Amino acid sequence: MTARADIFRTQMAKLGLGSKPQSFINGALVDGTGDTIELIDPYTEQRLTSYADAGADLAVEACLAAQTAQVGWAKLSGAARGQVMQDIARAVLANVDPLATLEALIAGKPIRDCRVEVAKVAEMFAYYGGWTDKVHGEVIPVPSGHLNYTKREPLGVVFQITPWNAPVFTGGWQIAPAIATGNGVVIKPSELTPVTTVALVHLAEQVGLPTGLVNVLCGLGPTAGQAAIDHHAVRKVIFVGSPETGRIVAMSAAKALKPSVLELGGKSANIVFEDANLKHACLGAQAAIFSGAGQSCVAGSRLLVHRSVHNELVDMLTKGMNSIRLGDPLDNATEVGPISNARQFFHVGNMVARAQSDGANVLRRDNKPDTGFFVPPTILDGLSNTDHAAQTEIFGPVVTAIPFETEEEAVALANATAFGLAGAVWTADVGRAHRVADHVRAGTFWINSYKAIHVSSPFGGSLNSGFGRSSGTDALMEYTSAKSVWLDSAPTPQIAFGYVS
Ligand code: NAD
Repeated sequence: MTARADIFRTQMAKLGLGSKPQSFINGALVDGTGDTIELIDPYTEQRLTSYADAGADLAVEACLAAQTAQVGWAKLSGAARGQVMQDIARAVLANVDPLATLEALIAGKPIRDCRVEVAKVAEMFAYYGGWTDKVHGEVIPVPSGHLNYTKREPLGVVFQITPWNAPVFTGGWQIAPAIATGNGVVIKPSELTPVTTVALVHLAEQVGLPTGLVNVLCGLGPTAGQAAIDHHAVRKVIFVGSPETGRIVAMSAAKALKPSVLELGGKSANIVFEDANLKHACLGAQAAIFSGAGQSCVAGSRLLVHRSVHNELVDMLTKGMNSIRLGDPLDNATEVGPISNARQFFHVGNMVARAQSDGANVLRRDNKPDTGFFVPPTILDGLSNTDHAAQTEIFGPVVTAIPFETEEEAVALANATAFGLAGAVWTADVGRAHRVADHVRAGTFWINSYKAIHVSSPFGGSLNSGFGRSSGTDALMEYTSAKSVWLDSAPTPQIAFGYVS
């Protein structure tokens, strides 16, 4: 066994898990029966472990377990559900180290980022744990004299599908509002990064989450994922991932008339005006595209810069690239790790090669670690906004720098993609900042900032970035439906065979 496989097993044991990924269904860790899935350490390129795809049968078991457990959970008082969620938050905080270590090892994300993301998961359970007894309807003054009131009811069982770039963070992001509102959950993390989601739910059950309320499927989309989408107990599908898969998932859900939420990719514009503090804008641009090795849905992958400061900012960014610490995700000093998996590594490499053949001036740092799926921070200069690299999600540490002349042009360029997820503007002119924020199509927009995200604020996109919202009170609405109740209080009730007046 390699030293890193040994770290994997040790951390799994600390979290009460076995030596390989297993699904967590109705309170039990279960092996799949499908095809073998290999997990490769993205830093060493060596095999860490392998496991069997959960397959369709386990998906059915997971949906039935969630359906049974949800009935009792929804009957609990909001305060009682909130108490359990606060206990989960504390349990997550007490296990930051093993959770973060596993995430860093498997997803290749620097451990310092993983620690923050695990702590954010605790915050999500604490935040939504505070909402459990505050989700209520309203009384509506209808003209007929009826008492009309609404209730927000849980949907039943929801199925959540998450990607590999921030597995435990995305898991908490979706599980917390779903259970806060009384739902049962089946969740399928990416087959490439399944264990931290299992660990999270396993921990949650140890501190009071009812057995079977949340079930985790370790396996593939077309087998386990499809079976869960099709299962009659599932009332809504929440998908976080690529636009291509999102389209397949939403179409499968729609065939059974099930609603979906799609949190997809982006090609976000990071706009820098000539009056911006360029030092801050440069740091913001680095964080926007190089943190997480650019594997972030909100990555600022198009840097739109006023022509008068374009070269200066590109120079600053080029110099800055050389001081970023690339290295072992398990090393506390590492700022940027490898690309998370081989498939993505080749995709990013192909995108850069194509950009070069399309005429890009490729600016990249010349050194990187000897092993691992590393792509050094890269700037593509000299392309236009219509070029392939400026229109396609790269999902790596690669930014396309494009000059503009006027505010109108900056906004037009920002909106000239098929996406609508995020964006930012850097300027000292407060009026211009708000005008640009108003006119850029984005679910999240930052002014003189980038990547600020919090569980209390809504998040989502439009067009190829998806639809629906996660987090904040918007997620409480996504995970409940309104029931309208009418009561006639007149001494002689008049049965209305139509509209009331
Ligand atoms: P992906 O679409 O390949 O996979 C996402 C998930 O879908 C995985 O769990 C996968 O197993 C599952 N899946 C695949 N085929 C399926 C099928 N036929 N039925 C059901 N499930 C299926 O995405 P990825 O490569 O894991 O992640 C990268 C993408 O995720 C990027 O496009 C990124 O922008 C996006 N993303 C979006 C957000 C957001 O909130 N908007 C957040 C993180 C990542």
